[in-house]
Amino acid sequence: MLNQAISDQRDPGPITSREEVPRARRVVVKVGSSSISGANAGQIPRLVDALAAAHGRGVEVILVSSGAIATGIPYLKLDGRPTDLATQQAAAAVGQNVLIYRYQESLDRFDIVAGQVLLTAGDLQNPQHRSNAQRAMERLLGLRILPIVNENDTVATHEIRFGDNDRLAALVSQLVQADLLVLLSDVDALYTRPPHEPGAHRIDRVPFDDDLAGVEYGDVGAAGVGTGGAGTKVAAAKLAASSGTAVLLASTTDVVEALSGAPVGTWFDPAPLA
Ligand code: GLU
Repeated sequence: MLNQAISDQRDPGPITSREEVPRARRVVVKVGSSSISGANAGQIPRLVDALAAAHGRGVEVILVSSGAIATGIPYLKLDGRPTDLATQQAAAAVGQNVLIYRYQESLDRFDIVAGQVLLTAGDLQNPQHRSNAQRAMERLLGLRILPIVNENDTVATHEIRFGDNDRLAALVSQLVQADLLVLLSDVDALYTRPPHEPGAHRIDRVPFDDDLAGVEYGDVGAAGVGTGGAGTKVAAAKLAASSGTAVLLASTTDVVEALSGAPVGTWFDPAPLA
């Protein structure tokens, strides 16, 4: 009986397939700008429903959300995405505030409190900043608060220029040693070539040592307000998987299915245990 209790508490190891997603304890969910801003701002409550359901069954959930710039643009009375960095940063400063307000308003329905965490890739490389960020994240999760992470756009420009937070989400997954990273976007999976092109096939699963030779990537998000494409998602997925985090690339509209282990999206196996 005692042995049984001890073995039940033992770490059952990495999540290695979709079927095992329901036992994930720590999950990072990344959502891109075009999924939650502009005409798609109405997707926030449905995303929050899925996050709250996981949180409610005891999962430690971290949301990495882009969308500060896209959310800020209408408040600056601009017609489209600014091309100069300073105006992008100004839009992010305005939009981040509005974005967090929208998330918190939606989380209120579940009595969940959000914690805003603004980080740079440099913070996660500097040992002291990294350990400060790690300690703060652990405390937030211990307090059952839902951290919402974005790049600190007024001092950093990496994700504005390359990747719409895909890389940041992988670095956060490494920081908190997440079991699972779910990369959500407008596209439902990784395809062998851009999905609108003839002959494109959905890739269901990517084994850890698969270098995806022959896969052709498109460049940018479909709605044109973010900066990530399939290439940055695959690079981020590979980075997280190399540290033992399983990765699921899926559509934002499939978030409920993604978090319950349904056969959606593209699954990246984590690195096998050393
Ligand atoms: N941190 C930026 C944001 O939240 C990245 C996304 C982008 O490039 O639009 O808006």
